[in-house]
Amino acid sequence: MIVRLSDGRDLPIEMYKARVVQKTTLPPIDQRLGAIEEAGYNTFLLWTKDIFIDMLTDSGTNAMSDNQLASMMVADDAYAGGESYRRLGTAVQDVLGLEYYLPCHQGRAAEHLLAKIFCRPGTVTPMNYHFTTTKAHFEMAGSRVLEIYRDDAMDTASENPFKGNLDLDKFQGVIDEYGASNIAFVRMEATTNLIGGQPFSMENLRQVYELAKQHRIPVVLDCSLVSENAYFIKCREPRYQDVSIAEIVREMMSLSDLIYLSGRKSTCVRGGLLATNNVDYFNQLKAWLPVYEGFITYGGMSSKEIEAMAVGLREMVDLDVASSSADLIQDFVDKMVARGIPAVTPAGGLAGHVDAMKFLPHVPQEQYTAGALAAALYLVSGVRSMERGTISMDRDEQGNDVPSDLELCRMALPRRVYTMSHVDYVVDRLAWLHAHADLVGGLEFFEEPPVLRFFTGRLRALDGWGHRLADAFRKDFGDQL
Ligand SMILES: *Cc1c(COP(=O)(O)O)cnc(C)c1O
Repeated sequence: MIVRLSDGRDLPIEMYKARVVQKTTLPPIDQRLGAIEEAGYNTFLLWTKDIFIDMLTDSGTNAMSDNQLASMMVADDAYAGGESYRRLGTAVQDVLGLEYYLPCHQGRAAEHLLAKIFCRPGTVTPMNYHFTTTKAHFEMAGSRVLEIYRDDAMDTASENPFKGNLDLDKFQGVIDEYGASNIAFVRMEATTNLIGGQPFSMENLRQVYELAKQHRIPVVLDCSLVSENAYFIKCREPRYQDVSIAEIVREMMSLSDLIYLSGRKSTCVRGGLLATNNVDYFNQLKAWLPVYEGFITYGGMSSKEIEAMAVGLREMVDLDVASSSADLIQDFVDKMVARGIPAVTPAGGLAGHVDAMKFLPHVPQEQYTAGALAAALYLVSGVRSMERGTISMDRDEQGNDVPSDLELCRMALPRRVYTMSHVDYVVDRLAWLHAHADLVGGLEFFEEPPVLRFFTGRLRALDGWGHRLADAFRKDFGDQL
């Protein structure tokens, strides 16, 4: 929530109080240098003991509510026919208005099942933007992922409130070129994770749905961050200013044929969900659930998490919950912009992002600009962020790097976990790093897995720049920070 202060400023204020806390430590610079070297300059390979503020992801790291934790105590652990499954069903019906649903262990498990049902070799899957696991699953099943965002979606310094919109002319072009029967489905991701948590508008979703219907193309919504997309529709699409988050979410559901989500984001649990009103899709998906996930009433999830997902679904449409990280991210982005840091604008739904190609213009993409920035930020702050750039793209069939559209350093704000003083600290260290950007160099792989290499690949700092940067840091801050 935003409260207006007496001096006219807007303050994004936390609408919750901490009742359980986890201790953090700020490891000193020498420990951080050792840790990042050992991690192969890959922030995924750092250990919690070496991290001060963990902004790697909002996935599975959100604070759960008291009601979610309480619900876990009354979970029904039945293998089949569990009451927890039925309570999830009531929540899916009440919040999403969808009758048929399947739990699964994560969002990518839902993608795997969707790929199995819809994605044949020779088909294409158009979407507003891909997610790493989405692309991996659909393409492994033989369908080509086509990203048909509007041209300005890649403009990192923009005022376009809906950079997650799908380009309708390009969609028509895809239909003309491939034929509707070769389109597995059209996928809308709410909000587009990899380009900065940017939302689509309700108007765009409606137009996509109408065009898809004319050609009998199924519309699939990735609802992993649906509450944030709904919040942005409320704030940025004038017609929805007085519409509740719950009503906006329901309207989004009515403009799709099938939805899935990673429960690790908006619903603040660990699990996944598929839901639809189309009994035919449901039956096809259901057939595979026991093969890959588990019996249909638990789908690989713990019954405790199923209970908490039911509560999380209801809570995510509360305005105070839907806005909890978005408002802090807006403050984060405003503060970065004020300090001259090339932050991605407008602020998105899961993280603050920095455009690494503007931050480190001397580091080419072949040397993994965003990866270098993420490693450097950790080194000077103990803040763990995530590379979203060329390292996150796998090599093509010829073994060449595929330069990413954007090189972003993503600093996620898990929901209801960090506060404004954490944000202020990160902005300060980023500003210091920006002033010393010339000390940061590129990276090269020395251990590189063939698929989703960003998770476990190891790199080295070219010319040992990590040591140079640590020396400069010690000069300004001493060796205790
Ligand atoms: C996280 C995420 C996924 C994958 O979900 P997992 O639970 O991590 O498997 C898919 N799509 C989007 C938009 C996501 O944010």
